Amino acid sequence: MYNETQLQQFVEQAKPYAKYGKVADYIPALRKADPNDLSIAIYAPDGTVVCAGDTQEKATLQSISKIIALAFVLMNRGEEEVFKKVGMEPTGDPFNSIAKLEEKQPPKPLNPMINAGALAVTHMIDGADVDERFHRLLTFVHRLTGDSAITYSKEVAQSEFETAFLNRSLCYFLKQHGIIDEDVEPLMDLYTKQCAIEMNCIDLARIGLVFAMDGFDPIQNDPIMPPHIARICKTFMVTCGMYNASGEFAIKIGIPAKSGVSGGILAAVPGRFGIGIFGPSLDEKGNSITGMKLLELLSKTYSLSIF
Ligand code: GLN
Repeated sequence: MYNETQLQQFVEQAKPYAKYGKVADYIPALRKADPNDLSIAIYAPDGTVVCAGDTQEKATLQSISKIIALAFVLMNRGEEEVFKKVGMEPTGDPFNSIAKLEEKQPPKPLNPMINAGALAVTHMIDGADVDERFHRLLTFVHRLTGDSAITYSKEVAQSEFETAFLNRSLCYFLKQHGIIDEDVEPLMDLYTKQCAIEMNCIDLARIGLVFAMDGFDPIQNDPIMPPHIARICKTFMVTCGMYNASGEFAIKIGIPAKSGVSGGILAAVPGRFGIGIFGPSLDEKGNSITGMKLLELLSKTYSLSIF
């Protein structure tokens, strides 16, 4: 099976594709990323980790946090309540699109991976105030990664908070239609902190492993989430995890995955291992170009497609 030398070769093969993309710039703090960075970790159930690239480099989760928040809220509130506020269908639209919200009756977001749906999910994180709600989510991240030192980037959170006008407008729409009933500013505060949770690709791969093992953490022997919740999350990764490129990704790569505009990709190869990648150069849909190339090489070489 894969080894470090092979993985390093894949990284070298994928790196040149960085020039076809660019780093996210609509969140000013993300402009500082180096488009040529690329790191990957593969985490196996027996605790073996195979890595390549600068694995100590940390990046924020951005949209990858949406799958973690979804699992958390499903565990806390249950499926029935969560899916009253957010649907299960892919959109085919960009992640921050407002367009479909008005077309659908009732006007609930189509799925929890687009921003409107993710904001509705974050709204359902319980707690007395933003600090307590964020702390509860972060504690869940600590359990998923086995690393209680993980925190968030204040700079990235602040930068997004100051510029998230489109996300604010999605919140106001959701509030108008009764999907959320809290004030918009605290929700934006919580959401931008959630998106700014920061880790390296090894931590990310470890979260992927938990999803791959149906919610069970084999490293700490910890049944973190019920299997049916892990399954719901993996299904969303397949249908909506790579935004409006999810169909093509399923055909070419076929691994449940979730991307973020920091260039991260979390992938879960069911029953086998978790994969974490950071490569900040993005294509026009907001997915890591080099990350997708790496996953394609891995999937083709080792027949990882679930289909
Ligand atoms: N924080 C980002 C936003 O809401 C996350 C988007 C993403 O990673 N696609 O715009």
